[in-house]
Amino acid sequence: MIPRVAMFGTGYVGLVSGVCIADFGVNVICVDVNKEKIDGLNNGKIPIYEPGLDVFLERNIKAGRIQFTTDSKKAIEESDVLFIAVGTPPMENGEADMQYVYAVAKTIGEHMNGYKVIVDKSTVPVGTGQVVKKIIADKLKERGVEYEFGVVSNPEFLREGKALYDFTHPDRVVIGVESKEVAEIMKKVYRPLYINETPFIITNIETAEMIKYACNAFLATKITFINEIANLCEKVGANVQQVSKAMGRDGRISPKFLHAGPGFGGSCFPKDTKALVQIAEKHGVHMSVVSSVIEANHRQKKMVTEKLEKVAGDLKGKTIGILGLAFKPETDDMRDAPSLTIIPDLVEKGANIRAYDPQAMDEAKKILDKYADNINYSKHAYDAAEDVDALIIITEWHEFRNMDLTLLKKIMKGNIFYDARNIYSRKDIEEKGFVFIGTGV
Ligand code: NAD
Repeated sequence: MIPRVAMFGTGYVGLVSGVCIADFGVNVICVDVNKEKIDGLNNGKIPIYEPGLDVFLERNIKAGRIQFTTDSKKAIEESDVLFIAVGTPPMENGEADMQYVYAVAKTIGEHMNGYKVIVDKSTVPVGTGQVVKKIIADKLKERGVEYEFGVVSNPEFLREGKALYDFTHPDRVVIGVESKEVAEIMKKVYRPLYINETPFIITNIETAEMIKYACNAFLATKITFINEIANLCEKVGANVQQVSKAMGRDGRISPKFLHAGPGFGGSCFPKDTKALVQIAEKHGVHMSVVSSVIEANHRQKKMVTEKLEKVAGDLKGKTIGILGLAFKPETDDMRDAPSLTIIPDLVEKGANIRAYDPQAMDEAKKILDKYADNINYSKHAYDAAEDVDALIIITEWHEFRNMDLTLLKKIMKGNIFYDARNIYSRKDIEEKGFVFIGTGV
C-alpha cells in the first residue's frame, strides 16, 4: 500500500517536497497556517520563485495527487505519514526557534486518529525527534487515547534554484529511525528513488539530525576557506580562480563550493552554523572552526564596502549600482543575503543606491524599508548602472554574465566595476577603461 502523506509547511522546502513526493505517485495534502498562501495555491498562484515548480505543480494537480489546505485535522486524519517542514529561524542568540515545529507536533497529537509516522524534514537541533515524540505522547495521554506512532528525522539537502532537480536526484536520502518497520514505510514514500539505487542512509534519529548540521557547517567552512584564500591572493598577486581550479581537481577536495565571493548568505548556512555552535555549547563542546567561520563570513560581507572605499574614496554623495539582491541566483530568497549587509553599509557611508534583481526586488523592498529613501529599484540591469559612480555585482544571475561593457561604460558616470563574484575577467573589464575590483583575482 502506498502511504498517504501530509506536508506541514508550504515554504521553499515543504512545497517542493510535497510536489515532488506527489510526483512519485503518492497522494499529498499540503498544510499551512498561512491562509493567503493556501488560497493562492488553490488558485494556481505559487508563493515562491523556484524554476520548474509550476510544471511539477500543474502535472500533479491534474493527476489529482496534491491538495492544499489550512485544515490540519483533515490532513492528519486522512494521512499516514506526516512531514514537518516548517521554518526553524534563528533567535537572537543563534539558537533555532523551535516554536513552529513544536506547534505542528502538538496539532498532530491533538488530531491523531490511528497509527502515524511523523517525519521531521526541518533542520532541527539534535534531540528534537525525542522532544516531538514526547509532545505527541503527552497530547495523546491528555486526550485519554492510545495510538502508536513512529518518529523519523529526514533532513533535506535541496538547494534553492535547483530544488526540483535536487529533490528528485539526491546524492543520498538520510532516514533517522528507531525501528526497521518505520524505515520500510519511508522507503515506500521515496520508492522511485529507492528502486533507482539512490543511497539510503539509515541511522538513529540523533545521527540524522546531526548529519544535516555537519553538512551545512562543512560547506559553509569550504566557502569561507576559499574566501580567506582569496583575500590573501589579493595581497600577494595570486589568482584565486586558478587556485580553486587546481584545488578542485584534487579528488579529495572537489571543485564545488570553492567560489570566492562576498560571503555566504541564505536561509540555511548562516542560521545552521550559529545553531550548531549553540547546540555544542549546551553540551560543553566548543566548535572553534565553525565559530571562526561565522566571524570570518561576517567580515567578508563588510569587506565589500571597505574595498570599494579604498578605490572610490569617500562614498558620501556617490551613487552605487547594485546588480543582484537575492542570496544567490535563481531564487527570490533574501534571507541573510550579502546585499543586506552591503547596501546598509554603503548607505551609512552616505551613498545612494540603484539596485536591480530579476526576482527578489519585492522581498528586498520589504526588508530594506528603513533605507528606502536612499534606494532606487531599477527596471533592469542597465537601468541600475545609469549615472552611477560604481557598479557592484553581488549575485551572479545569468543575465549579468554577458553584459554590453561598451554600453555600461557609456551610461555610467564613474568607471569602477566591482565584480564580487568573479564572473568577468580583469583583462576584459580593464580593456574597456574600467577600474576593476574582484574577489581574489
Ligand atoms: P519557509 O519559511 O519558506 O516556510 C515555512 C512555512 O511553514 C511557511 O509557509 C509557514 O507559514 C509554515 N508554517 C509555520 N507554522 C506552521 C504550522 N504550524 N503548520 C503548518 N505550516 C506552518 O521555510 P523553508 O525555507 O521551507 O525551511 C523549512 C525548514 O527546512 C527549515 O528548518 C530550514 O532550515 C530547512 N531547510 C531549508 C532549505 C532551503 O533551502 N530553504 C534547505 C534545506 C532545509
